[in-house]
Amino acid sequence: MLGTSGAPELNDLEEDLMSTTPTKCAHMACNCMAPAGQKYCSTHCQDAKGMTTLSCHCGHQGCDAKA
Ligand SMILES: [Zn+2]
Ligand SMILES: [Zn+2]
Repeated sequence: MLGTSGAPELNDLEEDLMSTTPTKCAHMACNCMAPAGQKYCSTHCQDAKGMTTLSCHCGHQGCDAKA
């Protein structure tokens, strides 16, 4: 029998963190962090989710896509 190459309970821990930790805005061109539990950093990004845009204009500091 070969050793099982599975990571221990770390996976569970990660999942738990995902739900409470702020994540990057789901907008492809946005570099902002979205608040915990939210996919987008702002309504601007949420509004632009359906559009293909190369830059983000959410207005947040530090989010100035240089393409
Ligand atoms: Zn942005
Ligand atoms: Zn955003």
